[in-house]
Amino acid sequence: MQHTIYWIEGDGIGADIWKAAKPVAEKAVKCAYKGQEEILWKELLAGEKAYKATGEYLPKETLEALKTARVAIKGPLATPVGTGIRSLTVTLRQTFDLYACIRPVKWYKGIIAAVRHPEKVNMTIFRENTEDVYSGIEFAAGTEEAKKLVDFLNKNFNKKLKTECAVGIKPMTEHGCKRLVRRAIQYAVKNNLPSVTLVHKGNIMKFTEGAFQKWGYEVAAQEFSDSTITEKEMLANGNPDNKIIIKDRIADAMFQEALMHPDQYSVIATTNLNGDYLSDALAAQVGGLGMAPGVNMSDTLAIFEATHGTAPTIAGKDIGNPCSLLLSFAMLLEHIGLDKAAYAIQKAIQNCIDKKTVTKDLAEEIENAQAVSCSAFGRLLMDEIDSMF
Ligand code: NAD
Repeated sequence: MQHTIYWIEGDGIGADIWKAAKPVAEKAVKCAYKGQEEILWKELLAGEKAYKATGEYLPKETLEALKTARVAIKGPLATPVGTGIRSLTVTLRQTFDLYACIRPVKWYKGIIAAVRHPEKVNMTIFRENTEDVYSGIEFAAGTEEAKKLVDFLNKNFNKKLKTECAVGIKPMTEHGCKRLVRRAIQYAVKNNLPSVTLVHKGNIMKFTEGAFQKWGYEVAAQEFSDSTITEKEMLANGNPDNKIIIKDRIADAMFQEALMHPDQYSVIATTNLNGDYLSDALAAQVGGLGMAPGVNMSDTLAIFEATHGTAPTIAGKDIGNPCSLLLSFAMLLEHIGLDKAAYAIQKAIQNCIDKKTVTKDLAEEIENAQAVSCSAFGRLLMDEIDSMF
C-alpha cells in the first residue's frame, strides 16, 4: 500500500535534518513491512525556499494540496520578531483549523536531565491552538486602532485604560475549548491512561481561563461519564472502577507540580499560551528540545512537526539533531497505522543513545558520549534498524 506524505523542508536547519531523517524513515517502513507498505513523498513549498521559488512564503499550491491531505510533516519555519511576515506555523494552524497541538514528553534513558527523576515524566500535552491571545488580534501602542479600542472600553465599560497602551484580545469559545478537551479525554481512553488534567489560570481570568475549566468538566460529565470520574468524587468515594480521573490545576501550580510530582500527571489539556510555555518547559526538563516531537491536528488533517526552531547559528553545518523530526515522523506512522515502523525509529534512537554515539547537542547531555555529524547519525540509525529485522 502506498501512503502519500506531504513534507515541508523548513528553513535554517530544516535541510540538514531532512537529509538525515528521510532515508531513516524510508528504511523503517521498508524493513518493518518488507516492501508491502511504501511512502510516496510529495514536497510542499513554504518559508524561504518557497519565497525564492515563487515570491510567496506560503504559495497557493501548498495551501491547495493541504486542503485535501490527511497527513503532512514539516521542518521549522522562521518568523522575524516584532516586524515582517506573520508566523507561517501559526498561519497554517489557523487556515486549517488545526485546533489541537499534541506534544508527548518522555525521557530517553541516558540523557542527563535537569531533574533527579526524569523517568517519572511521561505526559502528553493537548494545547488549544486557535484561540486565546494567539488569535492575532492586537494593536500597537499609539496606533489609531489601539486608541479607538481603548476609548471604546473606557467609555462603554467604565474602564480606566491609558490611551497610549498596546492592546490584545483573548477570545475563547465553548466550542473551541470543548473540542480540545474532548480530544484529550478520547486519547486517555484509547491509551488506557490514568488522568486528564485541565490546566488554566481561571483564578485571575475568570471568564476565559475559568470557562475553559468549566467547559472541560462539562465535556467529561456529558460525554465520558462511563469512563471518567472527577478528582473531587474520587477523593470522596474512591475509584473502584478505575476510571480516568479528571482534575484541574492553576497554571503556575502546574509548573511546580511538573517538577515535584510529575508521576501524578498523564494527559494535560490546556489553553494556547499556557500550553506553549508548559510543553517547552517539560521538554527541557527531560533533556532538550532537540528531541521533542509534536503534531497540530484538525478533525481531518494532521501536520506533524519538529518542535524546535530553525537554529540559524548551526544551519548548513551538518551538526543538528534530527530526533525531533524523526520522532514526529514516528507519531505520523502511528497515526496512519504503521506502528511497527514507528517503534523501529524510536528504538533505533534509544539504541544510539545507549551506545553514546549521537549528535553534538545530545553528546553534551550524555556522559562520555561521542559527537557525530547529523548525516553520520542518520546512517547509524539506519544500521540499527537493519539489525532489528
Ligand atoms: P531554536 O529552536 O531555533 O534554537 C534554540 C537553541 O536550540 C539554539 O541554540 C539552537 O542551536 C538549538 N537547536 C534547535 N534545534 C536544534 C536541533 N535540531 N539540533 C541541535 N540544536 C538545536 O529557537 P529560536 O532561536 O528561538 O528560533 C529561531 C527561529 O525559529 C525563529 O525565527 C523562530 O520564529 C523559529 N521557530 C519556529 C518554530 C516552528 O516552525 N515550529 C518553532 C520555534 C521557533
